[in-house]
Amino acid sequence: MTTVFGKILRGEIPCAKVYEDDEVLAFDDVSPMAPVHVLIIPKKNLAGLNDTDASHEALLGHILATARKVAKLKGITKSGYRVVMNTGADGGQSVFHMHLHVLGGRSLGWPPG
Ligand code: AMP
Repeated sequence: MTTVFGKILRGEIPCAKVYEDDEVLAFDDVSPMAPVHVLIIPKKNLAGLNDTDASHEALLGHILATARKVAKLKGITKSGYRVVMNTGADGGQSVFHMHLHVLGGRSLGWPPG
């Protein structure tokens, strides 16, 4: 796990933790694009969505369910929020350890740029 998120998982660099369990870690994005911007990462080493298969479906569901939990912890359940998993070059992925963005706390534009 050579990415910055691998370093966070190993405790080599700090993060503002929002939620953690055996499968995932959620923490505030260091460069937030909205008042609430949390990243949810699996503890397993997966570069991105394209590296998952049928054996990861429970984990993928767990990551999505964690987004619901994070929204509640951050108080944006009722106001609404967006979950995004950037994948590959056109998707705008910059860190190749799979992660789900949870964005909220303001009205978000659509379509994305
Ligand atoms: P993506 O462009 O979808 O790969 O998203 C990567 C995200 O990781 C960006 O929103 C960055 O701001 C965020 N990020 C990079 N380094 C850190 C860090 N050390 N702690 C928290 N978030 C980070």
